[in-house]
Amino acid sequence: MQKKDGHTHTMYSHHGSQEVLDAYIERAIVLGFDTYVVTEHAPLPEKFLANFVGPKESRDSSAMALSELEDYQNQVAHVQEKYGNQINIKRGFEVDYLLGYEPETKQFLQQHNDWIDEIVLSVHFLPDRHGNLIPIDYEPETLSQYFATELLMPQVLFAKYFDAVKQSVNFETGLDVPVRIGHITLIRKYQKYFDLPPFDDSVHRQITELLTLILEKGYELDFNAAGFSKPFNGESYPTFDIVAEAHQLGLPLVYGSDAHSVDALGLHFSEMAEFLENISVDK
Ligand SMILES: [Zn+2]
Ligand SMILES: [Zn+2]
Repeated sequence: MQKKDGHTHTMYSHHGSQEVLDAYIERAIVLGFDTYVVTEHAPLPEKFLANFVGPKESRDSSAMALSELEDYQNQVAHVQEKYGNQINIKRGFEVDYLLGYEPETKQFLQQHNDWIDEIVLSVHFLPDRHGNLIPIDYEPETLSQYFATELLMPQVLFAKYFDAVKQSVNFETGLDVPVRIGHITLIRKYQKYFDLPPFDDSVHRQITELLTLILEKGYELDFNAAGFSKPFNGESYPTFDIVAEAHQLGLPLVYGSDAHSVDALGLHFSEMAEFLENISVDK
């Protein structure tokens, strides 16, 4: 696996540390990364924020504010200038796929088309039974409150989540840059909290179709280390069985620390790279 971190955050996410971007880059250089993609959460559409009915605190701590966009871009330009001879720094966003807000999302991407080198496209919000988009990775209590019925039938919740991920892959970004589909098993973030069962055969078929679709679209898969450090998860996103399947299909996997603090950079890279190297691909 290339020594690339394709999924990283900054102080602008509002749910991580306040360390400056310079500190992240310096750490990545020490760890021997050759490529580093800064992928802060892109500002959420105004209309989405206005309609948001989920936990109040999550509304403003899910992404950078539109008013911070320029500072963010300046910070990325600053580290490119300062460290560009030591590490390849790329300009990116983690873009939320928001069901029903595709035009707004596309408009944002079009506006920043020239600036963007790569994106991570992620599903963090699912519609509740009223059709309102609610974060699935905020607090376990949020899941209990808004997805109580689904939690009684976890396979239904999984199916709903993978449907949304499929829609995200079908979303036309209008960009001509590398797109990575983010942490495709995020729905398991609180698996130990809720004692979630493994995916059943039907969900596994959905995942196989999803991987094939990602391959057809020419996208990549985010091989995300963050779950290992989450107390109620303890695995990579996606899990190693899915990673093996993706690798067999020929889908490019890119390591993502998903670091929201400097000390999370590079975590589990070795074991993840080793796992990939040890999969025999029968072709
Ligand atoms: Zn994410
Ligand atoms: Zn992220």
